[in-house]
Formats: sequence, structure tokens, C-alpha cells
Amino acid sequence: MKRLEKLYEGKAKVIFKTDNPDLVIQYFKDDATAFDGVKKDTVNGKGVANNSISSKLFELMKKNGIETHYEEKLSDNEMLVKRVEIIQTETIVRNISAGSFCRRYGFDEGVEFEAPTVEFSYKSDEYHDPLMCDDHIRVMGLATEDEIFQMRTMALKINQILQTFFDSIGITVVDFKVEFGRYKGRIILADEISPDTCRFWDKVTKKKLDKDRFRYDLGDVEETYAEMMKRIGD
Ligand code: UDP
Repeated sequence: MKRLEKLYEGKAKVIFKTDNPDLVIQYFKDDATAFDGVKKDTVNGKGVANNSISSKLFELMKKNGIETHYEEKLSDNEMLVKRVEIIQTETIVRNISAGSFCRRYGFDEGVEFEAPTVEFSYKSDEYHDPLMCDDHIRVMGLATEDEIFQMRTMALKINQILQTFFDSIGITVVDFKVEFGRYKGRIILADEISPDTCRFWDKVTKKKLDKDRFRYDLGDVEETYAEMMKRIGD
């Protein structure tokens, strides 16, 4: 599949056209950003790791009945994906308290929830990804009630699939963010699933195995992406 002109460049990925209008190439960069792009650096090997990890996890989703935009891994940094219209909300699932949940409510980190929570935020660096309720998503015209229902249902199923898999390799899925896209009238999983978009803790050592190592300067950043690639099975 030939890579044509750049369609879009985000903070961690670049999307290129191909000669098939339904397919685009998603290129994973080594660039890392946090706090709405205020903290920036390069993490060597992150692009390769996230491409590999996302490819594996999208294949896992497909095997378990979740439709994704993933077609195939093309190279170390590139995957071929369906061209979707990204819904401008981020869907976040939490199993254990961490991150913005703790900051927002003054809540301790590491408290296990009785059942997972699902929340939506507005995908906007300018407005700092504010939390959104269903009604606001609807009145802003970002998604319909049915689409919101589908995103919530799919996100919870994705959580179960991830928890089962990561449990088998000794990792706890603390929380994660997914993005959905519209494709030929359907809602499908898009973007990526990687240590950039999930919080993973080692079950035994409790070591953080995700982007929090970069966000909070915890050290071992490059090593952690490489370790996650290895544990997920490259
Ligand atoms: N997340 C993400 N992109 C965002 C915001 C959050 O991938 O723009 C992921 C984040 O890595 C974590 C989960 O979503 O796994 C929940 O993030 P949270 O709301 O706690 O925000 P943060 O602490 O990352 O600011």
C-alpha cells in the first residue's frame, strides 16, 4: 500500500492518504506530550512499541467481536486502517481511581471501584478536554443518543477484553481512553490502544507501566514501552 500525502498530524500520530479512499496509513511517532501539549519530548522507540501494541490489541478486539478500524501492520511504525470520521469525544473507562479522577474530586489513588465507570470528555486541547454529560454531547451535535449508547456499551466490552488479557500477563488495567469513528453507518473502535492511552500497573510490583512514567518523570520511560511491547508479545 503506497503512502500518499499527509491528511492530518496529531501529537503522537500522522495520518496519510493511500490510493484507496477507504483506507489510510496511521504512523506512530516517538513524540510524547502531556498536560495538553505543554510537556513535550521524544521517547525513543515509543512509535514502534505503540504500533506493535495497538496492532496486537486491535487483533484481540476483532477476535472478541469488537469492530475496529485496524486492517494490518505495515511496518515498524505504520498500520493500515479504515478511514473513519472520528467522533469528537473521548470515552474513558476506569476500574481503579487515578489521574484526573483523583485530581477532580480529591480522591485517593488506587481505590478499586465496585464496577467500572464510563465518562466522556470533549476532544479539545484548547478547552482542556472537559468532562461532558450525554445531553451536552447531544446538543453540541457530537453524537446521537444511540451513538452514545453504543460507545458506552462497546467501551465496557473493550474493558472486559482488556482485563482478561492483561490479567493473564500479570498487569492490572487501571483506566483507559478510547476513540470511536463512524464508518459506513457504523460506530467502530479507532485511534490506538497503548501505554499512551491506558494506565497499566504491574500486579506484583505495582510499578506503573504507561505514560505516567513520562508525565511525572518517573524514569525508565523508554524501557517501559519496550517492556510492554515484549510482554504483550511482539
Ligand atoms: N487519556 C488519554 N488521552 C487524553 C486523556 C486521557 O489517552 O487526552 C487516558 C489516560 O492515559 C488514562 C485515562 O485516559 O489512561 C484516564 O485519564 P485521566 O482522565 O485520568 O487524565 P490524566 O490524568 O491523563 O490527565
